[in-house]
Amino acid sequence: MAESDITPVIATRRDETMSWLQRVVSKGLGWARKYSLFSYPYATACCGMEYMSVAASRHDIARFGAEFPRFSPRQADLLLVVGTINLKQAPILKRVYEQMTEPKWVVSFGVCASSGGFYDNYAVLQGIDRILPVDVYIPGCPPRPEQVLDGLMMLQEKIGGQVHKIADKGQPNPTAAHHDLLASMNK
Ligand code: SF4
Repeated sequence: MAESDITPVIATRRDETMSWLQRVVSKGLGWARKYSLFSYPYATACCGMEYMSVAASRHDIARFGAEFPRFSPRQADLLLVVGTINLKQAPILKRVYEQMTEPKWVVSFGVCASSGGFYDNYAVLQGIDRILPVDVYIPGCPPRPEQVLDGLMMLQEKIGGQVHKIADKGQPNPTAAHHDLLASMNK
């Protein structure tokens, strides 16, 4: 048995203070981030019309702090995958994700993005979670705007409860596990 296994962990006042500070910082950053989402709508198919409806005045996604779509991934932290993703598009979608700023989140909008939908064939990616880490899945073909807003609120709740650090250095790439799969699909 290693010595570290039998040595009791002693939390010093400095440790306790730092953990309290980290909790306060995390709560503040989580609150700020969940109400200032900059989305990148990767719209490929009919679900795109429903996205427009969510963004328009009747449902008004601006009420949730996600008003401005960004069409540069470097200015976005929320990837909305809206519609069918075929295998030819999968590497492009993955590159968009990799170019986005950290921290970042992914929402799968509609059944086509979530599971391929009724396109159960060789040309369509059977769910974007084969290449990306998805935070929230929104069901429906297409989902109603209310469902989209519900999914957005779930994401906000998740962001608010996450640990946020002032600087995240040396974090593992969450998409690394998907590289092999994508490479095999492209062969
Ligand atoms: S889920 Fe339905 S509405 Fe959305 S892209 Fe697929 S087929 Fe079109």
